[in-house]
Amino acid sequence: MLSLSDIFVAAFILICVVLFQWEVVQKTLNGSQFYAYSVCNVGEPEQDNWLRTTFIQRRPSASRIFVELQFIVRDCNSFDASVPCKETFNLFTSESDADVGTTFRKGQFKKVVTIAPDEITSKNGMRINTETKVVDNLSRKGFYLAFQDIGACVALLSVKVYYKACTATVESLARFPETVAGSENQALREVKGECVENAQSEEVPRIYCTADGEWVVQVGHCQCKPGYEKVGDTCQECQPGFFKAASSDGKCEPCPANTQGLEAGAAFCPCMDGFYQAPTDPITGPCSGLPTAPRDLVATTTQLSAGKLLLSWSPPDDTGGRSDITYSVECQSCEGGACRPCGEKIRYEPASAGLTLTRVTVSELDAHLNYTFIVEAHSGVSMFAGQASARAHKPPSTSALTTSLHYTDPPKITSMTVIEKSVTSLSLSWDVSPRPRLHAPPIRYELTYRKKDDNLDVTTYTVLILEKSSVQISELAPGTAYLFRVQALSSDGSPGGSSIEEQYETLHESTSASILAAAVGGAVIGILICSFVSLFRKRNSHSRQGAEDNYFSSPEQLKPLKTYVDPHTYEDPNVAVLKFATEIHPSHITKQKVIGAGEFGEVYRGILKVPGRKDVAVAIKTLKPGYTEKQRQDFLSEASIMGQFTHQNIIRLEGVVTKFKHAMIVTEYMENGALDRYLKDHDGEFSSFQLVGMLRGIAAGMKYLSDMSYVHRDLAARNILVNNNLECKVSDFGLSRVLEDDPEGTYTTSGGKIPIRWTAPEAIAYRKFTSASDVWSFGIVMWEVMAFGERPYWDMSNHEVMKAINEAFRLPAPMDCPSAVYQLMLQCWLQDRSKRPRFGDIVSLLDKLLRSPDSLKTIADFDPRVSIRLPSTSGSDGSPFRSVSEWLESIKMSQYSENFTCAGIINMDQVLQMKNEDIKNIGVRLPGHLKRIAYSILGLKDQTSTLSVFAV
Ligand code: AMP
Repeated sequence: MLSLSDIFVAAFILICVVLFQWEVVQKTLNGSQFYAYSVCNVGEPEQDNWLRTTFIQRRPSASRIFVELQFIVRDCNSFDASVPCKETFNLFTSESDADVGTTFRKGQFKKVVTIAPDEITSKNGMRINTETKVVDNLSRKGFYLAFQDIGACVALLSVKVYYKACTATVESLARFPETVAGSENQALREVKGECVENAQSEEVPRIYCTADGEWVVQVGHCQCKPGYEKVGDTCQECQPGFFKAASSDGKCEPCPANTQGLEAGAAFCPCMDGFYQAPTDPITGPCSGLPTAPRDLVATTTQLSAGKLLLSWSPPDDTGGRSDITYSVECQSCEGGACRPCGEKIRYEPASAGLTLTRVTVSELDAHLNYTFIVEAHSGVSMFAGQASARAHKPPSTSALTTSLHYTDPPKITSMTVIEKSVTSLSLSWDVSPRPRLHAPPIRYELTYRKKDDNLDVTTYTVLILEKSSVQISELAPGTAYLFRVQALSSDGSPGGSSIEEQYETLHESTSASILAAAVGGAVIGILICSFVSLFRKRNSHSRQGAEDNYFSSPEQLKPLKTYVDPHTYEDPNVAVLKFATEIHPSHITKQKVIGAGEFGEVYRGILKVPGRKDVAVAIKTLKPGYTEKQRQDFLSEASIMGQFTHQNIIRLEGVVTKFKHAMIVTEYMENGALDRYLKDHDGEFSSFQLVGMLRGIAAGMKYLSDMSYVHRDLAARNILVNNNLECKVSDFGLSRVLEDDPEGTYTTSGGKIPIRWTAPEAIAYRKFTSASDVWSFGIVMWEVMAFGERPYWDMSNHEVMKAINEAFRLPAPMDCPSAVYQLMLQCWLQDRSKRPRFGDIVSLLDKLLRSPDSLKTIADFDPRVSIRLPSTSGSDGSPFRSVSEWLESIKMSQYSENFTCAGIINMDQVLQMKNEDIKNIGVRLPGHLKRIAYSILGLKDQTSTLSVFAV
């Protein structure tokens, strides 16, 4: 912002009026003529020739002026060398408060500087010099400049006198006036400004003007007021339909959904008729409508004797665009046509108002009374909708749905008949009383059948769960009598009401020639311990819900604080996922590296950056391209399930991406990945105390799940994730996972896939998946953990495993396993599931062990030849080990091959001579590895009796 326009003295010729020996001459330069003041008294001694300007008035603030001279000096060499000659002249100044006219007193002038040419003019041509000099610290009203010649040959062509100023400006919506630049000793001048119209600032805007006339370092920032936006250096009103809520640098934004912006300059847009905002909603946000009524309200009897009913319903069709939907329930008892409030006697679990789930248990009801339940949906705007306010209009009528219910006993099966029979099949049908009401939840039936003459000790029976009151059973043996029993199931899956048992016989083979093939098929069924054919073969109708069975039938156990909701109870799975999971914008997710492959696509490590929140490391599950809608829903079902859980030992869902093409599930990142792999990679590196600590975490997570009535069905170390703090978290919640994803899943004759070696016998046999079967799996996880990721039952086939379990064989204690921990495993593997400990018991016991670590010192009996499957004397083909490396490989200790070679141990005879000390000395340091090698040597020597001698 140098202000050359502020030159106020332009032409020297006009102002120099006092001349002593200087004269005005006319010169021609580059073809044009001009005047100059010239003096050339070379050769004459004692020269003192003066030229003075007229009085120059000074602007009061301009204490520093610049003098730009254009001049010519003749070369002294062009004169006779013996004559006096100078090539410089002097600049003087004199301050004065008044014009003194032509009076000139030399003594009043102060020398400013000697002026010397950069180039001198010789015979070869004229050289014009330009020099700028500064005259500082002027303080009087005006001044004179004077030029003293002391014997040179000089011509002054022009003199410009000026000061510098910062020009008036608008910076960041603050206006600053023109300001004269300061002098050397006041190089920065602070200047106060003011905000332009419709802008404001928290502090007075300031800026500095430099000595060079430049603006620098603005302090204080003006912003356009609410309702105005910055356009160039001004603040302009928001257009109608746009608003700006705060003083900011931002632009006006379009009015949000369900609001109106009729006027210009709006700071907010008022709600449209019938739409509201809650006080906690941001004023800049959309307005929402009231929710419509809840749908499909049904009541089911859970425990008749306790006067209990379960009311459940579906969320409103239209939530008014809000996610804070809650429900309240009101009860009226009706007798003889008159209804009145049920009063305080009635209990609601979890509560009668503020419900976030779409179900409530009502108890303390009297039998034989008619009750009317009114369920109302509320949202954050419901209670404000009715209040008169400038922004809210009258609400629509409240949403309510009424159903009346006279609860009755579960339906009874009244009769069973055979509709059709063949050599290998029977079609049955039965009646129920009372008949199911329209809109009542479907009744499910449990049909059990077996051959009549089976030895009862080894009965092969089949259980079918049916949704219709008829069935065709095929693949039966010809000419054989079967006993059929059918019973209605209550909504929680437990048998209710009375059952009916009948005997029917298939036709004899001789009656038809076409039955041979079917008979072969029928025979296959008998092979399994017990088989289960479910109408729920369709993957979609498979649900993990239903933890309740006899195992948890004590009244306290039936009152979970929060209950898991099967996402498939939602008609539209997309509604379920949005209910239980937060939608994340994909721009907040950065994928960094592929860390695994899931059933539906790759799993990435990445970063979640949500504005206003700390960045978090996350795992991102993706859905591979080309998916079907069904696959997308199955993929997202994991998020609908996971999103319902909040526990330290359950993998936390950060959110989902569903509204964009590439659906994603974002969870917390677990640095150490899957537990089985992690333990294998760190074999022998953790103490029993640390391992039990991990198990305690898993048990706590499982207790939480079972308290919510969620049955996992695929609990295994591969489905536990480990973070940096060695915290273990239960994962893998997809509904289809057990069936599709798990490589351990094995097809059963009923068509489902089951991870046999982790699954309780009753779940394999007739799909009785409960929290008690999860406890069995937990026992297997305990074994996997204590054995550092060893495969349960090693290389036994699934068939061998099932046979062994049926014959009461159980996994032996892993090496170095505390006795108390192994005892707990055995408890988890009790055949009678009602005798297995509950997860609450398991957590308490593990806590107790961790509180007194001495309790972990007693080690369970251990036989290395069984427990770590160490080959006793031979390699895999039965022949003795041919080399040290073959032996090390067989016990998975190949990493020490070089240690053995370097120590000169190159054949098995030498190995057999090794003592514990020798193993340590060759560099095997980890206690687990030391033991594995030592035990193997003992096994090779067949000296199991000395096992206890070895303790590290
Ligand atoms: P999944 O589809 O859940 O079985 O995931 C496949 C693999 O991705 C797992 O075996 C883990 O190695 C990895 N993985 C999944 N989720 C996470 C997570 N939250 N943190 C770290 N790794 C994970």
